[in-house]
Amino acid sequence: PSGAEPATKVVINLERLQQLPAEKVGPLARYAATIQSQRGDYNGKILSIRTEDLRSLAIIYDMTPGELTEQLIDWGVLPPEARPAREE
Ligand code: C2E
Ligand code: C2E
Ligand code: C2E
Repeated sequence: PSGAEPATKVVINLERLQQLPAEKVGPLARYAATIQSQRGDYNGKILSIRTEDLRSLAIIYDMTPGELTEQLIDWGVLPPEARPAREE
């Protein structure tokens, strides 16, 4: 494997997500909005989603889950702590 592992806890920063251009984050923003709607969870600044959802999103972004995790940390949508600790 090329290094990056998928995030262990997927906690999306919704405020940051809103600041990013739609052409980058469109699919993720729609996915998060759908989950908020299904839960009736509209008031949060952050949204915890399933690890399984990250795998689905990675397919949409044509990346591995590890690569998408790095991209989301880069955008500030996931905190750096989402990066799994490397095995020593
Ligand atoms: P935590 O998981 O560290 O979450 C801290 C705070 O982040 C939560 O405080 C909430 O304000 C926000 N937060 C995290 N995920 C979401 C989300 O998907 N939607 C929204 N709207 N806000 C989110 P809160 O609600 O007072 O919860 C405090 C702690 O209680 C949580 O800390 C967690 O340890 C526990 N908790 C709350 N709800 C759940 C749950 O559904 N499942 C589990 N396992 N623990 C929960
Ligand atoms: P569902 O998958 O049939 O889940 C029904 C209920 O089980 C959820 O109601 C929630 O109370 C609980 N539940 C299921 N999995 C978890 C989990 O990993 N952690 C916690 N804290 N609770 C869990 P809720 O929240 O009203 O969601 C209703 C429906 O909305 C869910 O039905 C599911 O179809 C969808 N949904 C909500 N959040 C997510 C998500 O993060 N990812 C996906 N793929 N679907 C979600
Ligand atoms: P959490 O509630 O602390 O749940 C942590 C892990 O426990 C979940 O990781 C999942 O592997 C397992 N788990 C918890 N509840 C259920 C359940 O009802 N059914 C099953 N099959 N497994 C369960 P996961 O899936 O990666 O989810 C991470 C976090 O995303 C959850 O933390 C919760 O904060 C949020 N989440 C996921 N699905 C739902 C949902 O349907 N509704 C709500 N409100 N929150 C959800």
